[in-house]
Amino acid sequence: TVSRLRPFTATIFAEMSALAVTHDAVNLGQGFPDTDGPASMLAAACAAINGGANQYPPGIGVPRLRRAVAEHQRAHYGLHYDPDTEVLITVGATEAIAGAIVGLTEPGAEVIMVEPYYDSYAATVAMAGGVRRTVPLRPDGDGFRLDRDALAAAFTPRTALVLVNSPHNPTGTVLHDDDLAEIARLCLEHDVVAVTDEVYEHLVFDGRTHTPLATLPGMRERTLRISSAAKTFNCTGWKVGWLSGPAELVAAARAAKQFMTYVGSGPFQPAVAHALESEMDWVAGSAQSLQAKRNLLSAALSDAGFGVHRSEATYFVCADPRPLGITDGETFCRSLPERIGVAAVPVSVFADDKEPWRHMVRFAFSKRDEVIAEAAQRLRRL
Ligand code: PMP
Ligand code: GLN
Repeated sequence: TVSRLRPFTATIFAEMSALAVTHDAVNLGQGFPDTDGPASMLAAACAAINGGANQYPPGIGVPRLRRAVAEHQRAHYGLHYDPDTEVLITVGATEAIAGAIVGLTEPGAEVIMVEPYYDSYAATVAMAGGVRRTVPLRPDGDGFRLDRDALAAAFTPRTALVLVNSPHNPTGTVLHDDDLAEIARLCLEHDVVAVTDEVYEHLVFDGRTHTPLATLPGMRERTLRISSAAKTFNCTGWKVGWLSGPAELVAAARAAKQFMTYVGSGPFQPAVAHALESEMDWVAGSAQSLQAKRNLLSAALSDAGFGVHRSEATYFVCADPRPLGITDGETFCRSLPERIGVAAVPVSVFADDKEPWRHMVRFAFSKRDEVIAEAAQRLRRL
């Protein structure tokens, strides 16, 4: 392995999922749902396969999906994108993130990201030959907030882009409106592009709303907005994602994307278009159900003796095992599947400055209620 990729040889998700299999553990590590998306979407995928949609789709994605992605953003956020020049379909949000970073980062240029960060960000910046600069979240009551001073200090003449993930994995935080406003202000002041990872845009709880950074004044013209069908429609294995933004930024990402995978997910693209067009009520129900699962798992963790952080969105809740006498989340997560038959993920692996996160553990609640109940019972053995 080349030196720039050596720190990234095994993902934590593969490692913890393997331990979960070995010890027949309830896997609350890797974030994926254990039920399927809307039946009409599954039927649409089968129909597409049986109907012959099995060859290369167009490089920028099938027209119906590009139109559905554009229409979805108009309907939900009042954001207008031209489906022919301002939308690109990708192989999951992962490839959209990679295309954006590789397409917009000169060697040695800096990419600002919120810490803890989704693991692919750091690896992809390294592949692009860029340098990451992290801006930490700080505890704020039982939730988290962006460190504004660190954010301002992270912008330099070498900044290529700022990567913003809200709703945030792993903490389940929805960034405050005034934190988003501060990011926008700094992007405008320093003439920097924003790339926003909004894959959990519809999975927000307790009546909160999600505000895309691109809706702030001056930001639509400098933001590449990324999302994916994976979490919205319970189809993480289909790998259908997209990005949208001004044509020249989309073109930069496309230049990289076309030589990463060329195209992908042919028959799943029309199925996801159908879901965006017709199944947003299903998504609202799914978010309601996830909120109840968040409550179940948060209560179970609390009963088991953990401190529990507020999860405002996503699939995840972060827990503090220090009341149980546990100070090292990584060691704890490596032993947990064998000890009690539950898998989770240590948050410190998503941070460069590990100290503030050393104890913290992320649990996924995107599971059937009986699975959460089984995990709850096992957690009581701690
Ligand atoms: N970004 C974040 C924050 C994620 O949690 C995930 C995992 N769903 C991804 C990107 C990757 O999304 P996809 O599976 O569509 O590639
Ligand atoms: N996004 C999911 C998570 O954070 C899983 C992603 C993966 O397995 N790479 O758990």
